[in-house]
Amino acid sequence: MVKVFMPQSLKEALRIRKEEKAIPFAGGTDLMVKRGRLRGLAPYFEKPVLFLHKVKELTGVKFEEGRVRIGALSTLSEILENRDIPLILKYAIAEIASPAIRNLATIGGNICNASPAGDTLPPLYVMNARVVLSSFTSEREMKIMDFIKGPGSTDLKEEELLKEIIIPVEFFNIVFYRKVGTRKANSLSKVSFAGVARLDDGIIKDIRISFGAVAPTPLRAPEIEEEIIGKNKVKIIAKIPDILEKYARIIRPIDDQRSTARYRKTISLKILEYFLKEEIK
Ligand SMILES: Cc1cc2nc3c(=O)[nH]c(=O)nc-3n(C[C@H](O)[C@H](O)[C@H](O)COP(=O)(O)OP(=O)(O)OC[C@H]3O[C@@H](n4cnc5c(N)ncnc54)[C@H](O)[C@@H]3O)c2cc1C
Repeated sequence: MVKVFMPQSLKEALRIRKEEKAIPFAGGTDLMVKRGRLRGLAPYFEKPVLFLHKVKELTGVKFEEGRVRIGALSTLSEILENRDIPLILKYAIAEIASPAIRNLATIGGNICNASPAGDTLPPLYVMNARVVLSSFTSEREMKIMDFIKGPGSTDLKEEELLKEIIIPVEFFNIVFYRKVGTRKANSLSKVSFAGVARLDDGIIKDIRISFGAVAPTPLRAPEIEEEIIGKNKVKIIAKIPDILEKYARIIRPIDDQRSTARYRKTISLKILEYFLKEEIK
């Protein structure tokens, strides 16, 4: 028999997390798949389960001082419907699963699941998002890029919960997202790509690029982005072979049931080339 807790406040949830080391349960759309067993058998949880759905402090989207704060328990549908969320995140969420799953699935669950194919991650990487982690006694904040450690692995401590995600509000006039999956709905990414840029008077003032499902964690290479900043379209076009070669060296996908490493690498570089050639005008 699984022991379950249904706290009514964040404080209560964090106390239970500390005392019981209970497994956080948000929408359950990853947990119920991962821990499912043969038909007729209940999913397997080796520790107590901590249902978060009544914890109000983990919900809602707030705007303050040039930042958007998204409660970890916000569902993907709620984020999609909020008109002030950065477009790049909404583009990615619109292609996750199906409306029914998005009504349950939370952004916090997508982040903490830390799948290389987690579709909110590349947009959060390019937005320089930060995560707020709470425990019963303290709170800390860190870059999402440092929080995600590897497939299924994060910096979350046993007594912590992801409380919220903070995204700086910044202006980009080029916002491009592409997901490659087996079909339109309910398929995990073979590859995903998030690219944003700010073009001023024909010069790239800022550019950020991130790939999903091509490495153990989402891939972002600020040192290559730096080489593009300050260039105009003509210079970027001339530099495309060099940029592609640099990314080709760090894109290291794997073969799995969804795709082959070769396909993933080829298609990632094609999308990048399209982004640099066609989207930046
Ligand atoms: C049919 C189907 C299609 C899918 N398609 C996609 C897709 O296209 N793209 C994609 O990225 N994903 C997809 N998913 C995966 C899943 O829906 C998402 O990752 C979802 O966002 C997970 O959120 P959740 O609230 O359901 O997480 P849960 O299953 O509740 O939790 C996931 C993990 O996060 C932990 N956790 C949750 N909340 C917190 C918190 N606040 N603090 C600390 N730890 C926490 C849990 O303990 C667990 O380890 C799909 C799933 C299904 C079933």
